[in-house]
Amino acid sequence: MKIIVTGGAGFIGSNFVHHMVNKYPDYEIINLDLLTYAGNLENLKPVENKPNYRFVKGDIADRKFIFDLFEKEKPDVVVNFAAESHVDRSITDPEAFVRTNVMGTTTLLDACRTYGIKRYHQVSTDEVYGDTAADKGGCCAENAPLSPSNPYSASKAAADLLVLAYHRTYGLPVTVSRCTNNYGPYQHTEKLIPLMTVNALDNLPLPVYGDGSNKRNWLYVADHCSAVDMIIHHGKNGEIYNIGSREDMSNIDTVKLILSILGKDNSLIRFTADRKGHDRRYCIDSSKIRNELGWKQTVAFDDG
Ligand code: NAD
Repeated sequence: MKIIVTGGAGFIGSNFVHHMVNKYPDYEIINLDLLTYAGNLENLKPVENKPNYRFVKGDIADRKFIFDLFEKEKPDVVVNFAAESHVDRSITDPEAFVRTNVMGTTTLLDACRTYGIKRYHQVSTDEVYGDTAADKGGCCAENAPLSPSNPYSASKAAADLLVLAYHRTYGLPVTVSRCTNNYGPYQHTEKLIPLMTVNALDNLPLPVYGDGSNKRNWLYVADHCSAVDMIIHHGKNGEIYNIGSREDMSNIDTVKLILSILGKDNSLIRFTADRKGHDRRYCIDSSKIRNELGWKQTVAFDDG
């Protein structure tokens, strides 16, 4: 089996490449990444010399490059992690998010329907459901309406709709997963947990949006990778799978936990003006992947 993993030099993509290269020595894993500010080949050091791994530099929104690559490689499976992924950057530069997350996804889908594919998997996010604090009460199952709040989540929602439309219109074999916040090795220091950790280690202020009461559901990255592995092997075409832990934490509690683990004082915390359009809480119902595919969270937040 030949698998193209896009965005495999980023945080979750590189963890997924490690997982697949080590678990399936008979598969060919091709890591396709543009190496933006978020991509780092150092993340691949432990697998770079494995015989079943290759890196290709390129842009998922570059149609000629993608079609030439598919013509040459004829992959069986494509797993699309490549994205502009930081909400704050999407608020200052939305267009870059539309280009990679929407146009890039469309380019990959067109290459898949031109050259044939056993499975296209789209890595999406729980943020497409929007804020589940104020009005929605319960947690969102896969059929909940999409209600993204910022340009990042809007571009991810647009991509999800295109993926599902290519299934309906062209019969493309696709799956979509929507995961909660990840943490773990190789995450960029612009994201909450690494940023707070490195600032605390350097005794720098820890900037927390608003009053810090926004809640997030955290999943250790290896558990996300095992879920995507299960979906590409056993998921049903045309289906969406939510992936989440059962551990909600307010941002301020997460930051205080990091400070206490590092033996630092809470006086490093600085509350800042809230993020524009900041979602209070996400809550997804991930019983489908647990019941249908037998996926389980294996790493508790405190241990991770
Ligand atoms: P990341 O920003 O760490 O990595 C993104 C990778 O994509 C980088 O290596 C970058 O170089 C590459 N890339 C960007 N534009 C590209 C392009 N045009 N062509 C090819 N490569 C390109 O992101 P991440 O946190 O690892 O997230 C990966 C995926 O998972 C994203 O689709 C994101 O929406 C989704 N997701 C992330 C989280 C999370 O908590 N981080 C949660 C749920 C879903």
